[in-house]
Amino acid sequence: MPNALITGITGQDGLYLAELLLSKGYNVYGLIRGQNNPKTELVEQTVPAVKLLAGDLSDIPSLLRALEVSAADEVYNLGAISYVAYSWDQALLTSEVTGRGVLNILEALRLYEQIHGKAPKFYQASSSEMFGKVQQVPQSEETLLWPRSPYGVAKVFGHYTTINYRESYGMHASSGILFNHESPRRGPEFVTRKVSRAVARIKLGLQEEIVMGNLDAKRDWGFAGDYVEAMWLMLQQPEADDYVIATGETHSIKELLDAAFTVVGIDDWAPYVRQDPQFMRPAEVDLLIGDPAKAREKLGWTPKVAFGELVQMMVESDLNEQKKLHGV
Ligand code: GDP
Repeated sequence: MPNALITGITGQDGLYLAELLLSKGYNVYGLIRGQNNPKTELVEQTVPAVKLLAGDLSDIPSLLRALEVSAADEVYNLGAISYVAYSWDQALLTSEVTGRGVLNILEALRLYEQIHGKAPKFYQASSSEMFGKVQQVPQSEETLLWPRSPYGVAKVFGHYTTINYRESYGMHASSGILFNHESPRRGPEFVTRKVSRAVARIKLGLQEEIVMGNLDAKRDWGFAGDYVEAMWLMLQQPEADDYVIATGETHSIKELLDAAFTVVGIDDWAPYVRQDPQFMRPAEVDLLIGDPAKAREKLGWTPKVAFGELVQMMVESDLNEQKKLHGV
């Protein structure tokens, strides 16, 4: 049975990827950061077969130890400070974890190779936020990167470090440039989940309005469960490479509101939505739309869940969750 090590196991993608790899017969190890991490229980309940190892992306010896204990054949680096808005408030920490953390884990892989003569394959979670102020529509693997936030800048560092280690040391290191991907497991700070949860609560009479930021930004939103499959496929290729993973469709935040309120039978959402500068960003990414042609041709990957289905899945899941929580 192959062994896989996942950093970021407590996040949305970590959980979906762990489920996928377990279903394929992998031994799955997850790196857990910090003392008494509050998300440990969630991982233990959702994917009990995953073995948890203590470690931190800013601590190379702990990474090396995790590689030793797991005897990993594949390493998926999903760990990061991942919320764009927050990255302005803690820019240095974001660059340490989201950026330099990638260098740390690649260095740990090199050390491991020196000791054992062979390094695991490596997947780096790169991001469409690297395109930022987009220089081309749609965005492909060749599009010039122009990040617009400390998070985006840190991801660019991680992306090029991965490419550089592949080219310098012949590592099987791939970078997946994933566009926004969502699910009922998405954190409530991200716009899709914020909307799906609020719409469910409005429908149930638990909340009166949603306070939003910029409604004109456009994103290419897919389903996280589809996207983790692309990560796995990248590591099954004979050669490591970089791939854009996206749906090729873009929707505005207004369209997201249309779709979410439609699920609960509300046609005019204007009375329920207020805008507030606190949710506006110092610099915005206006239009993300990815070109997944290379992933389709080389990996045989296509997204299965369409935008409308995704929004419906999220709103219905939040309706169930809120009903259970509040007994309504
Ligand atoms: P991101 O693409 O990783 O930044 O994902 P988010 O889900 O956090 O944000 C997507 C887009 O939604 C951005 O352009 C935000 O400016 C916009 N947006 C508008 N209102 C909100 C809000 O209330 N919360 C969040 N998170 N984003 C919002």
